[in-house]
Amino acid sequence: MIATKKPSTFKGDFKPTWCPGCGNFAVLAGLDRALVGLEFHPEEVVICSGIGCSSRFPFFMRTYGFHSLHGRALAVATGLKVARPELTVIVTTGDGDAASIGGNHFMHALRRNVDLTCIIMDNQVYGMTKGQTSPTSTRGFVTKSTPYGAQTPEVDPVWIALALGATYVAQGASHDPKQLAALIRAGIEHKGMAVINVTSPCVTFNRACDYKFYQERSFNILDKQPDYDPSDRLAAMELVHNNQGQFPLGVLYRAEAATFDEQLTAVADRAAATEVTLDDVAETFH
Ligand code: SF4
Repeated sequence: MIATKKPSTFKGDFKPTWCPGCGNFAVLAGLDRALVGLEFHPEEVVICSGIGCSSRFPFFMRTYGFHSLHGRALAVATGLKVARPELTVIVTTGDGDAASIGGNHFMHALRRNVDLTCIIMDNQVYGMTKGQTSPTSTRGFVTKSTPYGAQTPEVDPVWIALALGATYVAQGASHDPKQLAALIRAGIEHKGMAVINVTSPCVTFNRACDYKFYQERSFNILDKQPDYDPSDRLAAMELVHNNQGQFPLGVLYRAEAATFDEQLTAVADRAAATEVTLDDVAETFH
């Protein structure tokens, strides 16, 4: 039973503790605008996070929230969505949380097409632990953890999302909050695994990748390719591949496919229609 009125803002009573100028503020505003626009009640929404600056998100929203373990937000969100499919579950995470310690969960949530919206605030650095190289840091990036420069090639969350089966893949930027809000809203409306990677500057620990850096390297997909077809996954991968070091903004890919909870329901229905018992299944392992 939904008890409260639809709010005019989902921002909570706690003032965000992010550094002034952090890119995460634009994501907070974009998610707030999307939830208000979609006319949710607070009880219908759960925000799950892991660990990191971006994972403080649930504290600052007037929804249910789950500040879980490092890298485990998608695992928690998957369980929640399977148990309570009527809820709208949103994961707020960072490049370290999603692509390093949480890489395994990221991969499997993508291939399962769990009906979640995963917003990655990608600042190419570990901010909360005061500036170490993250999986998305560019090669050669000098930090406290890599004084001679990062030696390994960077991970691209957009590329992984496309390759492993997300059915909505978009990229937004904190320097374009209007487009970002629209991309988040479309991700929430999408049925299936939606990934929105956001270039979100860490103004304190990654001054090389500031707002100007991302503005100079970003382009709107439809400006460059007005006839771009977001239903073509290979075209999306080609776009990313051909523009390495750049940030294509907009919807890269969108498709329809059975969601994880729908797949589980179908299996449960089939199982219920048979006379196979759990003992029968256990017998097969002997
Ligand atoms: Fe944002 Fe970086 Fe400050 Fe963390 S350390 S709040 S990512 S600016």
